[in-house]
Amino acid sequence: TELPADSSEINIPRQVEQACFSYVQPKQPSNPSLIHTAVEVANLFGISQEDILSADFLNTFSGNTVYPGTKPYALAYAGHQFGNWAGQLGDGRAINLTEVVYNDKSCTLQLKGAGPTPYSRTADGFAVLRSSIREHLCAEAMHYLGVPTTRSLSLMLSGDQVLRDILYSGNPAYEKGAIVCRVAASFIRFGNFELFASRNDLATLQSLTDYTIKHHFPEIKSEGVEKYLDFFQAVSQTTLDMIVHWQRVGFVHGVMNTDNMSIHGITIDYGPYGWLEDYNPNWTPNTTDRQHKRYRFGNQPEMALWNLYQLANALYPLINDAKPLEAVLNTFSTDYQKEYLNMMRNKLGFKIMKDEDAILIESLIELLQLVETDMTIFFRNLGSIQKEDSAEIAFDKIAAAFYDEKALNESILDNWHAWLGYYRDRINQETVSDAERKEHMNAVNPKYVLRNYMAQLCIDDADKGDYSLLNELFELLKKPYEEQPENQKWFAKRPDWARDKVGCSM
Ligand code: AMP
Ligand code: MG
Ligand code: MG
Repeated sequence: TELPADSSEINIPRQVEQACFSYVQPKQPSNPSLIHTAVEVANLFGISQEDILSADFLNTFSGNTVYPGTKPYALAYAGHQFGNWAGQLGDGRAINLTEVVYNDKSCTLQLKGAGPTPYSRTADGFAVLRSSIREHLCAEAMHYLGVPTTRSLSLMLSGDQVLRDILYSGNPAYEKGAIVCRVAASFIRFGNFELFASRNDLATLQSLTDYTIKHHFPEIKSEGVEKYLDFFQAVSQTTLDMIVHWQRVGFVHGVMNTDNMSIHGITIDYGPYGWLEDYNPNWTPNTTDRQHKRYRFGNQPEMALWNLYQLANALYPLINDAKPLEAVLNTFSTDYQKEYLNMMRNKLGFKIMKDEDAILIESLIELLQLVETDMTIFFRNLGSIQKEDSAEIAFDKIAAAFYDEKALNESILDNWHAWLGYYRDRINQETVSDAERKEHMNAVNPKYVLRNYMAQLCIDDADKGDYSLLNELFELLKKPYEEQPENQKWFAKRPDWARDKVGCSM
């Protein structure tokens, strides 16, 4: 159908029934300007450096013009938020521009912050510079860390002002509006299936599921009930893999609601996320979740499983048998334990598997919490320990990870020396050389992650129109496992002023 010229006619917030999406028109920004492009993402679908500088690029990825022959749309979805059923949500400030097939790979391009849609409910459909910088930087940083994620093509200013409650002060204030273009195979979430199941709209549930499998899970060749089970199994597996990566690098998503869970097992929706600095499984960056800490670091595997239960419930009407779904869910926990153990073995530099490893890892996790110990610095420096090192020399190599060395009393020091003694014995059972082990460890223990204060410094500068730190951090985070001695200043503990300062999503 032809779209009405005036976007306000089709973007009115409403309940949308029996449809997986609605056509929408991005709101024209008053003065769009390009802040940053991830050239590597542009190249994924054949956009060159030259194209990036064109008016077409600016207009298309700011939502100023709709690219000829495309029909932007917003997806309908629902979800469980913080454990409660939330009803219809949908792309409230995300607009899918189109799908592109390049080198046999298909991807969807999606603007975030390009104005209201039928799913905006009471909100405005816009995004501010602060949250858009956090999304753009972190999505790309995660990609280079090897964590499955949506990508981020571009970051633009809209030239418009957006009204937001400033965190902490609670007062409304205008902030710069911004638009990010996200890229993923699709933006289909667990919540898309939940929407139709909750309405008992089995016809749409089935079309959505059939469509999803046909277009995004071509490896599934089975038919009927088996097909839906295979789909659930695949989502379960990739979700598990993603969570293991999060735990490896110390990423805390912060809002693992079912509407933020991609069926591709990729990290999606960078809102109030954060990175563990001191190793604390109870930490969450989300200030709205400080009481129950539902989405705390240590609870992410459990929450992923909880979300998979909701997906299983949503798919149940297509399968009509709980047993095989339960079987998949039951293997999640045991598979997670196995994958987690192997991931930790890699972080510790163990190539051979020993039964005692689980105990060594468990005692390390306890030790890391006795005094504030920087996760990233600890694991990175652990790689420098050599087979011949005494416990004291080994300790000196990891000492930079402690936030307050004075907090290490005698008994804690004894515990560390004991653990490092076990660790030294353990690496002596390995056949690889110290240098080889360090190389393996450095490939899984990043030196550079997007610490919360780094993003904040970059946001403060960008607010004043200075994007040099944004560019610097973007380049730094492209090589998180490399030494980059010229960037040593970013391999440092969080400064004290940044303690407990977190970013915000809205
Ligand atoms: P989130 O917590 O960011 O995953 O958002 C939950 C829901 O609220 C999603 O359906 C979003 O599309 C919607 N939403 C968040 N922020 C806005 C906004 N500024 N305008 C419209 N919808 C929004
Ligand atoms: Mg979301
Ligand atoms: Mg969000």
